[in-house]
This record gives sequence, C-alpha cells and structure tokens, in this order.
Amino acid sequence: MPTWRLYTEFTFDAAHSIDGYDGKCSRLHGHTYKVRMTAKSNQLNPSKYLKSPDMVCDFNELKWAAEDSEKGGLDHVLLDEIVPVNTTAERIAEYIHKETSKRIPENIELTVTVWETESSWVEYTDKDE
Ligand SMILES: [Zn+2]
Repeated sequence: MPTWRLYTEFTFDAAHSIDGYDGKCSRLHGHTYKVRMTAKSNQLNPSKYLKSPDMVCDFNELKWAAEDSEKGGLDHVLLDEIVPVNTTAERIAEYIHKETSKRIPENIELTVTVWETESSWVEYTDKDE
C-alpha cells in the first residue's frame, strides 16, 4: 500500500501546574514545549487550500497549536485553563491530538510527540500499536 508520512515540528511557550503533584511541579511554572506532528495516510486528500487530492493534509492544519492564544492556539496560554484534565505532557499530547483530529481528514493516522524539556518527551496516538 502506498504510504505517506508527513512531519512538522513547532514550539510554543506556556504555563502550567500539575494538580496533586508532590513536588515543585505543583507550582505554576513555564515550558517551551516542542511538538512533532506525524500524519500517516495511505491516500492523498484535498484541503481547504488545495482542491485536488494531492496532500495528506495541509501543514497549517497540523500547526494550529503554535498560534497565539488569540488565534485559538496554545502559545502564551495558561494550559490549566484550556486542557480539561491535569496538564501532564501525556495529557497535553492527547489534547493536541484530539483537537487536530477535528481539523484533518479521517483517513489520517496522527501521532503527537510533546517535549516538555529537551530530554523528556511523550508520544501519543489513539491507535493500539
Ligand atoms: Zn511543568
């Protein structure tokens, strides 16, 4: 089967605190989160910007979270106010995955990788591996 894998990376700055954490992460602090979006598909699709079916999806749709909060993104937000669960890197990856899935075609298998620091990251997909 033909397979395309689209990759894009971006960063955003945000504040958070981990509710119930026994340690300094329970206090409000910030990170420059790095995110890698991986979009895998066996077919090509049209997009909002290209009517012919020649893309997995548009890079712009994968990068919404990099936008300023006034444009609906996550840059310079207080994550605790936006993500409806505790803001661990695991939950942030799950949240970005869920919100991105609403913006892209259904035939795409999406993987979201979130780095909280340079040496610590988590990968999330909603498919069993
Ligand atoms: Zn933190």
